[in-house]
Amino acid sequence: MNQDTICALATANGIGAIGIIRVSGDQSFEIVSKVFQGKNLEKADSHTVYYGFIVDGKSEVGSGKSEVESNIQHPTSNIQPETIDEVMVSVFKAPKTFTAEDSVEISFHGSPHIAKKILEVLIKNGARMAKAGEFTMRAFMNGRIDLSQAESIADLIASENEASRKVALNQLKGGITNEISILRNDLLNFTSLIELELDFAEEDVEFADRSAMVKLIFNLKNKLGSLIDSFQFGNAVKNGVDVAIIGKPNAGKSTLLNALLKEERAIVSDIAGTTRDTIEEILHISGTAFRFIDTAGIRETTDTIEEIGVRKAKEKIATAKVLLYLYDEFDSTVNDVVSFVKEFYRKDLEIVLIHNKIDLSKNTENHFDTQLSAELLPDFVKKIIGISAKENQGIEQVISVLKDYIENLKTEESNVVITNQRHYEALQKSLDSVKRVENAISGQIHTELLAYELRNALEHLGEISGEFTNDEVLGNIFSKFCIGK
Ligand code: GDP
Repeated sequence: MNQDTICALATANGIGAIGIIRVSGDQSFEIVSKVFQGKNLEKADSHTVYYGFIVDGKSEVGSGKSEVESNIQHPTSNIQPETIDEVMVSVFKAPKTFTAEDSVEISFHGSPHIAKKILEVLIKNGARMAKAGEFTMRAFMNGRIDLSQAESIADLIASENEASRKVALNQLKGGITNEISILRNDLLNFTSLIELELDFAEEDVEFADRSAMVKLIFNLKNKLGSLIDSFQFGNAVKNGVDVAIIGKPNAGKSTLLNALLKEERAIVSDIAGTTRDTIEEILHISGTAFRFIDTAGIRETTDTIEEIGVRKAKEKIATAKVLLYLYDEFDSTVNDVVSFVKEFYRKDLEIVLIHNKIDLSKNTENHFDTQLSAELLPDFVKKIIGISAKENQGIEQVISVLKDYIENLKTEESNVVITNQRHYEALQKSLDSVKRVENAISGQIHTELLAYELRNALEHLGEISGEFTNDEVLGNIFSKFCIGK
């Protein structure tokens, strides 16, 4: 291997009870031995921990060097070594380490200043600062993990809730890799048979049973399709779901947001148009992050600042997945609501109508919602909910609509969930190739073309694990990691 030995702070850069510096590479033990007063690390067993001190300007005597080496006059030997910190050092010998290289972890008292001093002394003794993601990149390059597992490490570190932690962990444990490798093996068998046919092209023989192939393609299409479908859920889990709260000024949007968040974050006021900008708040429901965006009221206005708010509201609707439209029967007509819904209706937008301030309309027959239902259910909206944001009534129904939204995104067939845009695109490309293989079989297209499409599909599947990749893709993935990962 003979790579540089790299070092970096692996814990967050800030004050903590302890901090950990990671060192990895062929010379890890040699370099750390030069700064560690304690056990001779080069003689230590793998996966063991030692107490000692990190020092600057350590004398070579007793450092575990051979007698000859120890007798060599060290230029700094008459200078007293400076103790930097009292530490615990963990020794990990290749290949059973994170990077598959010799590695050392130094646990020190978690001060950023101490971290800096230890890193300096390691660098002075031959290590270099790791680049962003370099430890994980080495784990990948050394074949300990595949690319999708490397990506899952970044996801795991970034996970903020149960659902994203679980999917990232499943990916790290090889969930996607296993699923993909089953598909690849099946495809690989056929590809080799088809290529064999090419070798015997003159003889016009068929090694690959075409009907078995049709069956395989059918299964592949289903499997790829369900993995692709799982991205909707995976993406929601990983990146959260944007929920826009829309309605005329004073419909009670801020009050609803407060009720949802159970805290007074948004400004509630009687003056129409006070929520000038958009406010975003995150609420975790069923382990998924819902980002609520309270927008300025949508209405015609002459106030320029408010106009900006209105434009922003429209932008938010464009990117939202769920739209909570609030109205009350005093300030809206059935027509207002209907024309709003029809204007903003999109297939991939779940519109929920929320009739607010029902505390004020207790005694009236609800003709309003009956008319709305007739006009809008079930083509444009699935549900109309009556609430009183102010009195905290019906809020649980709003929450339950959001829970259902997530439940409905789940696909049943596969327990592997795609959360990564790159995997999603690779799966789509391989599905396209598989479809072309299908057409090639049914159209009795030349074996050479069939082989070409099969190889394409294989390559796209291989992109996920990193079997087929290039420096640009790798650079892009690992540069998003932070230093020390
Ligand atoms: P926004 O402009 O849509 O954000 O509306 P706000 O949340 O600022 O509410 C406007 C006014 O309506 C405030 O005085 C609220 O107290 C009041 N309000 C909001 N929800 C309700 C409700 O369910 N019932 C009643 N009676 N008043 C409400």
